[in-house]
Amino acid sequence: MQHDFTEGKFYQANFEAAAYLTTYYSSETGNAVEGIQLSFTLSTLCQAFASGHITGKLLIEIGSGPTLHNALIASEYFQEIIMSDYTECNRKEIEKWLRRESGAHDWSHVSKFICDIEGKRSTIEEREEKTRSVIKQVLKCDVTQINPFHPIVLEPADCLLTSLCLEVACKDQEAYQNALGNIATLLKPGGTLIMIGVLKETFYRLGKYKYSCLCIDQNFVKSALQKQGFVIQKFEAKPGPDKATNIMSDFEEIFFLVAQKTG
Ligand code: SAH
Repeated sequence: MQHDFTEGKFYQANFEAAAYLTTYYSSETGNAVEGIQLSFTLSTLCQAFASGHITGKLLIEIGSGPTLHNALIASEYFQEIIMSDYTECNRKEIEKWLRRESGAHDWSHVSKFICDIEGKRSTIEEREEKTRSVIKQVLKCDVTQINPFHPIVLEPADCLLTSLCLEVACKDQEAYQNALGNIATLLKPGGTLIMIGVLKETFYRLGKYKYSCLCIDQNFVKSALQKQGFVIQKFEAKPGPDKATNIMSDFEEIFFLVAQKTG
């Protein structure tokens, strides 16, 4: 069943950043009933960057929510990172971690997982410090706007990263296609898009609310990217847990893709 669409304004009014982190980012494997989806995306992202093909000066993360796991990986490869989200409490949660404020989420389990995968090139403390120095801004963004950062005009990025955002921010396939076009304008020609998403999900839970998710399949995502002038270089999907045991959400697969913007 398709649930009522929970738009950006619903997130702004109700989303609980700290609860989201406790629920989904308390361990490097993610929420236990969802399977080990977080360690899959963390290790796949580490591998993608380790390939050496994704480099440059600026990476923008779109819809980062209150999370830092992707930036903790990307900070090794980019000189500047801009984090962004629609919801104010999420941006504040990131700022809290950047300023080492008390009550900030503890990302050390994720940092350790990353350092271990990379063969301990850096210590947990070094990695987190580097991430703090590389993140230059935490901005409001709205993927439904032609310029998601309006009225700010950002220099085009070498890499765009987005995780679990477009499918919750878009009410239907047309909106998804448009949002993809909107974020694509933020990327240099030849730049790289990294996207993590869920397939066939209709909802996920947080606190007392069910948040809606646009139910999409692999063919839709691939064709939406192609229509926007992307060439897909890597697409990996991993099955989700048995739906009977997953009380938190109903995704069938989690995917990770790398695509290059042509033109
Ligand atoms: N990237 C994080 C958070 C995903 S939760 C992760 O991988 O866990 C979905 C996020 O999308 C929320 O932080 C929400 O605030 C954001 N969002 C919802 N509508 C949006 C919109 N119109 N534009 C940008 N972000 C939006």
